[in-house]
Amino acid sequence: MKVRFWGTRGSLPVAQKSSAVRDKIAAALVAADGRRFADTAEAARFADDTLDFATNGTYGGATSCVEIEAVGGPSDDGAFIVCDLGSGLREFGLNAMARCAAGHARLYHVFLSHLHWDHIMGFPFFVPAFDPGAKIVIHSGHPDAETALRRQQEEISFPVAFDWLRADISFRTLEPGQRYPIGAVTVELIAQHHSHVSYGYKFTDADGKCAIYSTDSEHKIDRMDGESAFVDFFTECDLVICDTMYSLADSISMKEDWGHSSNVIAIDLCHEARAKRLALFHHEPTYSDADIQRMHRESIRYEELTREAAPLDVICAYDGLTVEI
Ligand SMILES: [Zn+2]
Ligand SMILES: [Zn+2]
Repeated sequence: MKVRFWGTRGSLPVAQKSSAVRDKIAAALVAADGRRFADTAEAARFADDTLDFATNGTYGGATSCVEIEAVGGPSDDGAFIVCDLGSGLREFGLNAMARCAAGHARLYHVFLSHLHWDHIMGFPFFVPAFDPGAKIVIHSGHPDAETALRRQQEEISFPVAFDWLRADISFRTLEPGQRYPIGAVTVELIAQHHSHVSYGYKFTDADGKCAIYSTDSEHKIDRMDGESAFVDFFTECDLVICDTMYSLADSISMKEDWGHSSNVIAIDLCHEARAKRLALFHHEPTYSDADIQRMHRESIRYEELTREAAPLDVICAYDGLTVEI
């Protein structure tokens, strides 16, 4: 199974400001310390090997969109599997069109966590939705998913109406507690604490490999015994993608009840569930690359300090990351 992150930012798309790019260049020049490079390839190798991620790259600024690639099993129809339709969907759509031109099935199974704008805003820019040969099934725990997608393309908000889209688009409501064979995976849902409810998804492939997409979910540190349903859901999973929008200090001081969680709570839950890898996700839009990198390092340190059994590998999702399970 492969997991590709096309959008990892929470709430609002963001872009790097020129001052942030300049600061990265300045930090790289200081790190190079007068060294000479024969060509840009050699300089790029130096950047890869020597500079930290916040200097040589960026976590990106597109909102939630994650692709799950799996093969095999009786229901495998060769479809793309996509979690959420945030602004990262635009780039996924272009990439998918190229893969379709090379022979990939023009089928898409979409799984919506919920209907907040940052999770659906990419759909009007999703090129495959204009492909008359494409079939798109939008799965959701919400029966009102179609209403939300149609409403954001009403004339008052957008120039292209939903009815102008040429793909065969259908909606299907899923229920927590059921197991659905869809495409190359079996899918399960869990209802999460969030405004208008959100749903986490567990995808298990034919080999038993498992990835969980659990964003926009508020876990309360003072009610952790009430979180046992999530511990069960996350049990021994290979990869858990978790809403870790805030640092713990932010989440329990000014941002309590905002519907999101911290890195610390996600690590506690994954430890208890004996999950193997955690991806920090839905990054706060006001956090710089340096802020997110600092939170990632603190998360790794916290995981080491609180570990009681097997280690949990804590990674930090960024736009463009592919994880192999
Ligand atoms: Zn969100
Ligand atoms: Zn939300």
